[in-house]
Amino acid sequence: MRIGYRCEDCGAVRLLGTTRTELVWLRNRKHVVQEVARHSSGGLDLWMSDGLEFLDEHSDHSVLVEAM
Ligand SMILES: [Zn+2]
Repeated sequence: MRIGYRCEDCGAVRLLGTTRTELVWLRNRKHVVQEVARHSSGGLDLWMSDGLEFLDEHSDHSVLVEAM
């Protein structure tokens, strides 16, 4: 079973290589993580940058964390 984000409004899904806990954490702290990413040269883990990209694309939508 894989875990990822699903947008309730447009039905888009993005599978991400991490845990449900981390995806909920990222969704709740999106703005903080974006701010940290802007000021860090090391970059983010792939699931984090992918996840942020998805959350950005669907920022006005309802995004669920779901096992698929
Ligand atoms: Zn959407």
